[in-house]
Amino acid sequence: MPTSTRPIAIPSHIRPLDEILPTEPLLMMGAGPVPIPHAVARANSIVINHLGETMSVVIAQVKDMARYTFQTQSEWILGVAGPGSAAMEMAIANLVDARSRVLCLVNGYFSQRMAEMAGRAGAQVLVHEAAGTQPLDLTAFEAAVAQHRPHCVTIVHGETSNTTFNANLAELARIAKRHGSLVIVDAVCTLSTTPLQMDAWGIDAVITGGQKGLSCIPGVSLVAFSNAAWDRINSRSSPTAHWCLDARLATNFWHRGSYHYTAPVSGVLALHEALRLVCTETLERRFERHRRCSAALQAGIEALGLQLLVPPAQRLHSVVGVVVPPATSNQAVCQHISRQYQVEVSGSFGLPIVRIGQMGEQCREPNLFRTLHALGSTMQDLGVPADLTAGLVALERGLRQVGAAEG
Ligand SMILES: *Cc1c(COP(=O)(O)O)cnc(C)c1O
Repeated sequence: MPTSTRPIAIPSHIRPLDEILPTEPLLMMGAGPVPIPHAVARANSIVINHLGETMSVVIAQVKDMARYTFQTQSEWILGVAGPGSAAMEMAIANLVDARSRVLCLVNGYFSQRMAEMAGRAGAQVLVHEAAGTQPLDLTAFEAAVAQHRPHCVTIVHGETSNTTFNANLAELARIAKRHGSLVIVDAVCTLSTTPLQMDAWGIDAVITGGQKGLSCIPGVSLVAFSNAAWDRINSRSSPTAHWCLDARLATNFWHRGSYHYTAPVSGVLALHEALRLVCTETLERRFERHRRCSAALQAGIEALGLQLLVPPAQRLHSVVGVVVPPATSNQAVCQHISRQYQVEVSGSFGLPIVRIGQMGEQCREPNLFRTLHALGSTMQDLGVPADLTAGLVALERGLRQVGAAEG
């Protein structure tokens, strides 16, 4: 068949965005992206010269505010045009080569992704698997590190995928360090929602994305490297295979005011505002807001008569995993709550749960009441008993009790 050489016609079915977007936007209460503050949205609508004087002020401030947010003095803060996964790949691809051994603590989908990336970077990958719903066996972890003596250990601070939390990250990092390993941590959903101290805990690379804990737009991310990590990058014998993700090339833009690739200027401005709001709120108050809102939401969900997937000691607060009773399915819940109540929650990767985010702007009281009401009503609509009144009372009490204790 000869290929047609007819010109391609203008598509006739295209409707403007205003006609496609819902009149009432969905309340984004899933595992990300999350709602963004007005200041972030406004910044995201601006385009400026990516190499001009204004941009260099913006970049310097982004790095200073990122240092506070990551709790690091390291100068090696870099941004990346891409999702959290691009920051993850930037950290791994620059720190790992074909001669590396990498031990990946795997307790969910994203920690598995880090193992996959390390393998693609040519490393010998050792997976240390842990069931997220049980306390992590530190002795077994240390034995694995001592046995394999990896160059890098990868850990996901909060596994958004199954809502488990590595509460003993500081201890895990200490163990890895003790055996001479660099520590790479995915903090996409936890940075600025729960304490993480890069320097004090001896972490060598921290990865974050915009659209989760930072309550920024998707597609612009940050990574911070320690001095030890930077030494490793500088002593590479072969260049990083990914030109766009090459950390040394990225310093052209992030440290020398010159060109690597055209930076996503609007996204960097948005990130600037997201970080500024973190600084204005302070980490302490932001952590407390997340803890209080998530705890109250969890109490409300349990008072509805539903169960949370993960036991309290390993439970992630940034994303809450609610068990969906067998009478319905997580797909049905997500669809119904979206269509009927204009609230968006997430399903999961094969688990019978729905996930409700508690990151950034999701942790605001009106959003919690609306979400809990929508969840309880959805369950009732789908034939699952749910005590709406008890749920909303428990949510209200959770928010007030802690508030009273604080002040
Ligand atoms: C969402 C998420 C990622 C991936 O971020 P993307 O922006 O989707 O690439 C990685 N790790 C964790 C813990 C996440 O929650």
